[in-house]
Amino acid sequence: MHLEFWYRCTKCGYMYTPQQFQALAQLQASHTGEKEADLFAAPERVPCRNRGCAGFLVRTESQYKEAR
Ligand SMILES: [Zn+2]
Repeated sequence: MHLEFWYRCTKCGYMYTPQQFQALAQLQASHTGEKEADLFAAPERVPCRNRGCAGFLVRTESQYKEAR
């Protein structure tokens, strides 16, 4: 699946690249047994990975451009 937007934590504001979000969603899916595709469609079910942060992720409107 191709993801092209930045994702942001609702609490700490940390910005995740599409690749980082995908890795987090895969990790979460392996813990909960959910489908990755469902998590890609519902980023609010993917928790922030920062220690002590209880936030979750939202998709931003900022398009991610891969550095070359
Ligand atoms: Zn956070």
